[in-house]
Amino acid sequence: MKDELPQTLTDRFGRQVDYLRLSVTDRCDFRCVYCMAEDMTFAPKQQVLTLEELQEVAGAFVELGVRKIRLTGGEPLVRNNILSLVEPLGKLKGLEQLALTTNGSQLHRLAEPLFSMGVSRINVSLDSLEPRKFRQLTRHGNLDQVIAGIDSAIDAGFSRIRLNAVILKGRNEDEVLDLVNFALQRDIDIAFIEEMPLGKIDEHDRALSFLSSEALRQIITRQLTLEAAPEQRDAGGPARYYKTGGSPSRIGFISPHSHNFCHLCNRVRVTAEGRLLLCLGNEHSVDLRAVLRSGDYSRQLLKRTIVESLHIKPEKHHFSLSEPPQIIRFMNATGG
Ligand code: SAM
Ligand code: SF4
Repeated sequence: MKDELPQTLTDRFGRQVDYLRLSVTDRCDFRCVYCMAEDMTFAPKQQVLTLEELQEVAGAFVELGVRKIRLTGGEPLVRNNILSLVEPLGKLKGLEQLALTTNGSQLHRLAEPLFSMGVSRINVSLDSLEPRKFRQLTRHGNLDQVIAGIDSAIDAGFSRIRLNAVILKGRNEDEVLDLVNFALQRDIDIAFIEEMPLGKIDEHDRALSFLSSEALRQIITRQLTLEAAPEQRDAGGPARYYKTGGSPSRIGFISPHSHNFCHLCNRVRVTAEGRLLLCLGNEHSVDLRAVLRSGDYSRQLLKRTIVESLHIKPEKHHFSLSEPPQIIRFMNATGG
């Protein structure tokens, strides 16, 4: 009998999944204090999907109706030979948008080839404009290098560039307006992400450092008028966007705690080790690497596994700052 598979991915709550966040490595050249512990153990190389396996996973998802792929990590641009994955993905028939999330450290040399290979959108994390504080928050980052990377991305011509900032109370709270102005000056977007309890960290107490999107909005509106942006969402994305003073920049807030967006969820994640994660805030997952490396591997088998996995996509996440983290995996292992 012919193995008929659907051409779109739909879960049991009727949500259509057309967006894949594909983690290409769990490694990183930074150790951001909210993302990682200082001493991290990374997955052994043989457990990480090869570039060919990553390409196979992307191809299967696109055949199942995924229209947008975001490469992430860890830091995707520290993966060896990353361009030899980006190039074929940029040519995948049916893929409408190839995007990337990066810490920006390698963008000064890679922005141009990424753009020419078909990456259209880039998110760059930027939590501080003060070199010392930037270094403290990232533990290893060099601010000048990241700003040079952002400027290279602007010069390269990406259709959308968004800064991502995580603001911690008493740490970089005083830089919220400076970060917004930095984005406005460059006509790029910025999104403020509420810190999520992914992985156990000792550097700070997440409950004490938490700042809600609403608190950040109040800081911004002391100086700027925010109006809800007409184009509210990026394909069901969780950010709520605002505009100010006729600028093309959008100022967004991603509020996993204060504004639950699960009913609109259109995405799944694949970790660098090939685990298909059905939800950022739950452990429900399926091992795609086992399928990829099985003796009877076929693209059809991988696709069937993915289709069936959608049945266990949870309805919503339950983040809590007052309880110990239920999600023990760190954001770098999740695929941010
Ligand atoms: N290394 C790349 C980067 O930093 O952009 C991509 C991966 S990173 C895990 C993706 C995004 O997740 C970054 O914007 C980062 O600020 C955010 N992030 C990491 N840990 C987080 C946490 N615990 N809560 C909220 N956002 C987090
Ligand atoms: Fe690395 Fe990105 Fe995590 Fe920072 S947020 S440690 S840059 S993976």
